[in-house]
Amino acid sequence: MSGILDGKRLLVTGVITEQSLGFGVAKYAQEQGADVVLTGFGRLSLVERIAKKLPKPAPVVELDATDPEQLAGLADKVREHVPSIDGVLHAIAFAPPGALGGNFLNTEWADVAKAVEVSTFTYKSLAVAALPLMENGGAVVGLDFDAQQAWPVYDWMGVAKAGLEAVNRYLARDLGPKGIRVNLVSAGPQRTMAAKSIPGFEAFEEAWTKRAPLGWSLTDSEPVAKACVALLSDLFPATSGEIIHVDGGFHAVGVERTENVSTGQ
Ligand code: NAP
Repeated sequence: MSGILDGKRLLVTGVITEQSLGFGVAKYAQEQGADVVLTGFGRLSLVERIAKKLPKPAPVVELDATDPEQLAGLADKVREHVPSIDGVLHAIAFAPPGALGGNFLNTEWADVAKAVEVSTFTYKSLAVAALPLMENGGAVVGLDFDAQQAWPVYDWMGVAKAGLEAVNRYLARDLGPKGIRVNLVSAGPQRTMAAKSIPGFEAFEEAWTKRAPLGWSLTDSEPVAKACVALLSDLFPATSGEIIHVDGGFHAVGVERTENVSTGQ
């Protein structure tokens, strides 16, 4: 059976559980024909265990995306498994507890700096570290949470995501001439480790399930994976600097769904 990623090789970050959005992308990418290499942060044996749950067990290379030495060595480590890549997924975020949960006015700069370093700056760092592997062009895809408005409890992570959206545009500007497309998928809430570490995250879950025009599953990450895979494939050859919402249509509407829609018939 042919897939939209037949013959492609991808580097996927951010896998720590089977619920990780990165895991969903790695799985769907393999189902669409890709060879996948994963990166793992710190707890490598855990990532290796999860990697074995993919349709085709994937190799894991170590990457702390804030560590300049590991970033500099990334291309060589990936080349131990594949000669080059066609795309890379950034699925990395972290904010210290003080930067989340409704403490916005009192958060210390050190906590804000950590959130932005991990969740925003690493998008650029990862793209640059992967450049030597994409000499014939490729795609960079990242995962966003809509930063056009202020949310409850999301606090400085929301600011970090606003920065991520800006980094996406600047990367598109600077990598376009190298034939590299750079796009974000803005996902609705999913019950992952990162989400569970946000106190009050239930507020998103309730709002989404009531408001998203298409409805929304908090546990099925396949719609997000499909959009990422499409952007990593050849199906979007002239799209860059874009943010694609995969949120059940939530961003487009202001209040809860109503079942009383007149069709005029
Ligand atoms: P997740 O499974 O917890 O994945 C987050 C990953 O980031 C983990 O693998 C984590 O590793 C890794 N990470 C943290 N610091 C790192 C570093 N310095 N270097 C390399 N990796 C690092 O949660 P997720 O929800 O799938 O998150 C993936 C992306 O989706 C994030 O950008 C998140 O903001 C975005 N997103 C999530 C949602 C949602 O509702 N879940 C919605 C929209 C967007 P460790 O666990 O080992 O620390």
